[in-house]
Amino acid sequence: MKIDILTIFPTIFKGPLTESLIGKATEKEILKINIIDIRSFSKGKHKKVDDKSFGGGCGMVMKPEPLYDAIKSAGVKKKNNTYKNPYAKPYVIYMSPQGRILNNSIVKNLAKFKQLVIICGHYEGVDERIMNYVDEEISIGDYILTGGEIPAMVLVDSVVRMLPGVVKEKSSVKNDSFYNGLLDYPHYTRPAVFKGHKIPEVLLSGNHKKISEWRVEEAYKRTKERRPDLLKK
Ligand code: SAM
Repeated sequence: MKIDILTIFPTIFKGPLTESLIGKATEKEILKINIIDIRSFSKGKHKKVDDKSFGGGCGMVMKPEPLYDAIKSAGVKKKNNTYKNPYAKPYVIYMSPQGRILNNSIVKNLAKFKQLVIICGHYEGVDERIMNYVDEEISIGDYILTGGEIPAMVLVDSVVRMLPGVVKEKSSVKNDSFYNGLLDYPHYTRPAVFKGHKIPEVLLSGNHKKISEWRVEEAYKRTKERRPDLLKK
């Protein structure tokens, strides 16, 4: 998968997207992350990427021209260009508090695309006309961050985990919370007794059938207690 990230703070991504599983996925060529500096598409002497809001009021708005050129540089053609395989289309996402709130089923679907193009907003956001080139707005929750870079990192991290070969054990992704509509079961590691707290006896039994039943029961119990809304779904 190729992921283009359009930002006015390109250096912010060094670290979060170069370390750990994402860094390894890049090394293994499962993933290619391309950071595009929106400012480099600004034509003016001062490389301005923002301007005052039409109609007045506080706050600046991200100008459409450099953003449009940056989107095009990622290989995006017309929004309604028809592709035989819909997942072959570069899918353009604007990180926005006004978008669909990210969840695991959105993540699973996004992982099917060959290319994602992610726009990170700043100030009051982007000039609304840029929405003509955006396939979807995605939010990471009902709160406001200063910019779209952290939301973009959240999106990239969650999508990349789903790509085959990124997490060693596929079953580990499948047992994670939300994958099958349940929260994960509790996990324990050595020592078997920690500060007087013992692990559940069944985990020492060596009986894999019983352990697996216990895990399913625990996953249901947790989901019922903590997230009954997931069971209703
Ligand atoms: N004026 C905008 C509004 O009220 O909808 C908020 C702009 S916010 C200060 C600047 C940028 O941060 C947004 O353009 C967006 O890219 C990003 N952002 C902030 N909160 C976000 C969230 N919850 N999810 C995704 N992106 C967010």
